[in-house]
Amino acid sequence: MPGPVEHLKQLIAMDTTSHRAVTELSAYVASRLESMGFRIERFGSDAKHNLVASVGPIGTDGLVLSGHMDTVPTEGQPWTCDPFKLTERDGNLVGRGTADMKGFLAATLTALEGLDLATLDRELVLIWTHDEEVGCLGSSQLAEQLLADGRPLPKACVIGEPTGFEVLRMHPGHVASEFVFKGAAAHSSRPDLGSNAIEAAADAIVAIRQLAKELETETCFEDLLERPWVAVNTATIQGGSAINIVPDRCVVRLGYRPLPGSDPVDVHNRVRERIASLGLTNVDDRVLRITPSMLTDLSSRTMRLLTPHSPCEHAGAATFATDGGNLAKLGMEPLVFGPGSINVAHQADEFIPRADLERTVGMVQQMVRTQCMSGAHSR
Ligand SMILES: [Zn+2]
Repeated sequence: MPGPVEHLKQLIAMDTTSHRAVTELSAYVASRLESMGFRIERFGSDAKHNLVASVGPIGTDGLVLSGHMDTVPTEGQPWTCDPFKLTERDGNLVGRGTADMKGFLAATLTALEGLDLATLDRELVLIWTHDEEVGCLGSSQLAEQLLADGRPLPKACVIGEPTGFEVLRMHPGHVASEFVFKGAAAHSSRPDLGSNAIEAAADAIVAIRQLAKELETETCFEDLLERPWVAVNTATIQGGSAINIVPDRCVVRLGYRPLPGSDPVDVHNRVRERIASLGLTNVDDRVLRITPSMLTDLSSRTMRLLTPHSPCEHAGAATFATDGGNLAKLGMEPLVFGPGSINVAHQADEFIPRADLERTVGMVQQMVRTQCMSGAHSR
């Protein structure tokens, strides 16, 4: 039977950068799971789908193990080896996605291959998503579909993002928002005949900076976050067509990170109010995308399940968003916990320590035994 390193080697060799298809990787995983007796479902298109695999009594409250199949790009990064060929160096396995998060997927496959899944008395569900790295798009669509189906899913849910085995129970969300400033074009020798959309946007950006400063005083979750407020980033700006034309259009895009318990569109609405208060009226706005925040209770079953595996006494927070916010919409109590470090994810020469990968196999087996096998429940 292939060990986790062999699985990881195969998974790394399949380039699943977010703009590419997940078909090949999903087929590799599905064929192995199918041979273990899993029921396989695909939600989405052939190129872009979420893989949901389940085994054990349907609708019983066992365990969800989840992760994403896509990775960030390698272009422009100073890799010192082929990112799609697993390379071992000083006990570390190097390749794109080793930490984030094909390592967890590889360890999970090996773990399950070593268990007698016929003895499960609670359902084990695997959820592998697409397009997580570009805004948790796959899990967002999946949550809608599964909610519409009204399908019961286990509450305990582990998202195997690289946390160095630290349990993370909270993370901010992410909202992408757009403001389009409309002016009137004119010859640049007669600016009085036009209305400069870039200058309007510039005034708005100053107001957004002011709002961002004010938000830093609206703190909460001080116990979990180093920077316990909504972070705002004026991210892109596009406007103007020629040096001698007064620009009639300027598009500004913002990203901000709403905290649990707040309305995710609150900051967008406040930006709109600030812009209106500047007297700028010819502005269109829209929320482009909402990736929900996550907050899971300390008393959750997932917490009890993971505490024995974590070196840290306290559950912390992630600064990055995960699929957890979307999965929580399905009644799950997700926690983020997995091998490898977020500090090497998304970078050149991303790696996972071989020892961490191998250790994860036993951890996953223990989680499945605790949650899904009779006599072993700690409920
Ligand atoms: Zn990830």
